[in-house]
Amino acid sequence: MAKSAEKLALYGGVPVRGNLLPYGRQNLVDEDISSVENVLRSDWLTTGPRVGELEKNLAELAETEFAVAVSSGTAALHSAMFALGIGPGDQVIVPAITFTATANAIIYQGGTPVFVDVDRDTLLIDLEDVQRKLNAKTRAIVSVDYAGQPCQYEALIKIAQRHRVALIADSCHAMGSLYKGSSVGSLVDMSIFSFHPVKHITSGEGGAVVTSNSNYASMIRLFRNHGITSDHHDRLRQGAHSYQMVELGYNYRITDFQCALANSQLNRLPEFVQRRREIAAYYDKCLASLNGVNPLSVSLDVVHSYHLYVVRIDSSVLCTDRDTVFRELRAENIGVNVNYMPVYLHPYYRDLGYEKGLCPVAEEAYEMIISLPLFYGMSESDASDVIHAVKKVVQHHTK
Ligand SMILES: *Cc1c(COP(=O)(O)O)cnc(C)c1O
Repeated sequence: MAKSAEKLALYGGVPVRGNLLPYGRQNLVDEDISSVENVLRSDWLTTGPRVGELEKNLAELAETEFAVAVSSGTAALHSAMFALGIGPGDQVIVPAITFTATANAIIYQGGTPVFVDVDRDTLLIDLEDVQRKLNAKTRAIVSVDYAGQPCQYEALIKIAQRHRVALIADSCHAMGSLYKGSSVGSLVDMSIFSFHPVKHITSGEGGAVVTSNSNYASMIRLFRNHGITSDHHDRLRQGAHSYQMVELGYNYRITDFQCALANSQLNRLPEFVQRRREIAAYYDKCLASLNGVNPLSVSLDVVHSYHLYVVRIDSSVLCTDRDTVFRELRAENIGVNVNYMPVYLHPYYRDLGYEKGLCPVAEEAYEMIISLPLFYGMSESDASDVIHAVKKVVQHHTK
């Protein structure tokens, strides 16, 4: 250990911070709060005018014809699987490194997730593995814009077209990011957003599907409302009492006050993305010369919106493992996280028969990754605390 090294908090030293810096946090202003309050004082608590307004705004942002807002990103993924008609016997390709909801949505519909490996340097879906695993039962590919970086869509779209399968983007990390100048959301058959508080904008809970396919959009509208063909507004207008249920849908509606919050937050999306990119650029600069801590690669043809800032701990350089570094950073009061364990290693998926070794690059990457805190409201000094703690830990391990 270098003589000058500070003693790590985990081993009795003084932590870099007195209080925990969270890994993510929403940012609400008075305008957000009053927009919710206005809805609470109005006639409609759930499906009302703010839902349509959010859908219009989202379609505009995504450069699509339609947007359908639902109660969560997970509900949006499930709705997309329903709209595609995924069912028993159908395979859907999904990357191993993602939040479990991406794969769960396939199972909700009785389909089979087929996990594919990720690219070593970006952790985005590996196109060669996609092509290896495509077969006659494959109905769709769900790509994930991991960390906020859009996938290689030009190549993915070609693969999907050649094999006549649908291409769905789980863009829950990537609101506001661009691929070759085009908005994520505009590129594939359906794209999914989430408004969970750690994401770019929030409605508490909420999500949406954006698409330019009118059939998909109307299937999803049906699905979020029990599979019933009219809503209470239609019946009110027509003076009718009867309704018909034509599909087995769910209650995946989002409330009007959640949409008011999302609308208000959406006004600040450019600002949110800009700030995240500034913090990421600061991390890039500080980590560039630090051996043993390697940020993921970013392609030159994207604008990354940085839901996450992920580094890989090189154990051969630091002579320690990710879990130790994780505990050491937590003890310094830096709210690091690990996003994610390969989905199929979760006990539920193991019980379904998925086995270790399925996606070796994802498994190896999982042992190395740590997400550093990154959110709009972070101050310069918060960001420099993160770097201070990372350097302190690295110095401790560098002989
Ligand atoms: C957040 C997230 C989801 C699920 O969104 P919820 O709104 O929390 O249901 C799905 N996929 C990815 C990649 C996510 O990050």
